[in-house]
Amino acid sequence: MTETVNLWMDGARRPARSGRVGEVTNPATGQVIRHVAMADAGDVDAAVRSASAAFGEWGTTPPLRRARVMARFKELIEAHRDTLARLITEEHGKTLPDAQGEVQRGLEVVEFASGVPHLQKGEHAEDVGRGIDCHSRLQPLGVCVGITPFNFPVMVPCWMFPVASACGNTFVLKPSEKDPSASLLLAELLREAGLPDGVFNVVQGDKVAVDALLAHPQVKAVSFVGSTPIARHVYETAARGGKRVQALGGAKNHAVVMPDADLDFAADAIAGAGYGSAGERCMAISAVVAVGGIGDALVERIAHIGGRYKVARGDEPGADMGPLVSKAHRDRVRGYVDSGEAEGAALVLDGRRLQVPGHEEGFFLGPTLFDHVNPEMSIYRDEIFGPVLSVVRVDTLDEAIGLVNRNPFGNGTAIFTASGAAARRFQNEIEVGMVGVNVPIPVPMAFFSFGGWKQSLFGDLHVHGMEGVAFYTRTKVITERWPEGQIPQGTRSTVMPTHG
Ligand code: NAD
Repeated sequence: MTETVNLWMDGARRPARSGRVGEVTNPATGQVIRHVAMADAGDVDAAVRSASAAFGEWGTTPPLRRARVMARFKELIEAHRDTLARLITEEHGKTLPDAQGEVQRGLEVVEFASGVPHLQKGEHAEDVGRGIDCHSRLQPLGVCVGITPFNFPVMVPCWMFPVASACGNTFVLKPSEKDPSASLLLAELLREAGLPDGVFNVVQGDKVAVDALLAHPQVKAVSFVGSTPIARHVYETAARGGKRVQALGGAKNHAVVMPDADLDFAADAIAGAGYGSAGERCMAISAVVAVGGIGDALVERIAHIGGRYKVARGDEPGADMGPLVSKAHRDRVRGYVDSGEAEGAALVLDGRRLQVPGHEEGFFLGPTLFDHVNPEMSIYRDEIFGPVLSVVRVDTLDEAIGLVNRNPFGNGTAIFTASGAAARRFQNEIEVGMVGVNVPIPVPMAFFSFGGWKQSLFGDLHVHGMEGVAFYTRTKVITERWPEGQIPQGTRSTVMPTHG
């Protein structure tokens, strides 16, 4: 029997009461490497109660002390960066350098959260009326929940709990059941950093655990990242229960390439952004819009670069791309390649032919490139979440902007151009939350906020940065007067005061 990845409550690993387990697979070998406990409603209730009990003390701990825990946590992540990255590669499949990059981007949010005494300051105004001052406070909410996807098992949880707990909340994380191990190492490092027991808890599991979290009356806020149908379900269910929600969904990110772009640079950037992490990034480029007659030259360059990528297990030195996360997902992506071909797109690179010697049971699919794709085809319409790029050809920037804006998703996009005027128009008119100019994957740094528009995000506030602080706090505004001697007379108390 393999090891079971358990829950984390009150500062310790706990088995699930349910006794239910799922399988965790190494996608490079196809082997089951461990099991994961699947929490039921009773387990979820225990975790939420643990978080709720810890809130009283943690919520009133001075922000400076909370910040020091985050600063120590950051150092511990740095010290365990390689172990975290190896766990990610083993369960997700991405290459080791890419996994190390993921850990770094998560760590940067911890770094941001360790500035919380500054971030959580309110505003103050003196003499808003005669002898009256006013100030605002950003107070924590209570128990917050994070539900996260398989594709960033360290970075996406780190978008959430460092900011939430630095602001004084307590937290229950429900990681993806496909790659659950990193969550427990993070929990152990938090304890070592001095986080009191109960402030951070983990429930492993699936829909059963998620639905129990959404229904729990002591949960005040829910952060979700995953696919659009589940994001919508989480948003609607949690909002109906009166909870604050941010639910980040799927994507179909376009790279628009103008005729004046440096095509070698653009092709290299697009191949990396489309095939890196096997296309399993929410900010991966999946649609390439070739503007004004550059289609042939661009397609030839992307095919040349993508066709030479080394596809291998993620811990093999020199690997550019690893396997997809599961057999079911690999087969689904392969199904899209079949339908693209059947629908009449030109298949320039066919990843279905790839063999990785010695890893015949791994969930591999090579870089795939379609040309002459039209917006009615399923390979253009749907989020594939695999190493498949679709090139759509248009004549003008107007057409390109129209195409991107008609797409129901609005996570990320990029323009490649040498024209400041074209880039400026694109930035102004594009209906997408994160925009790159000659930058293929414009993921904002931790001190900005990350989030898409349209069906890529349900809710009002993006994650981390100041929007993250706003999400995990509620504002209280205090108006105060300290009269010396007699209360000033002269205005009737039944009249709205003008404070002038
Ligand atoms: P997913 O929606 O299948 O799962 C996300 C989380 O929801 C997991 O914890 C999972 O256990 C849970 N879940 C799954 N089915 C559920 C159900 N029926 N009811 C309740 N909970 C359920 O997503 P995934 O496959 O893990 O991740 C890939 C998706 O995430 C892609 O669509 C990708 O674009 C998206 N994503 C978006 C962002 C972003 O910032 N917008 C970032 C990363 C990933």
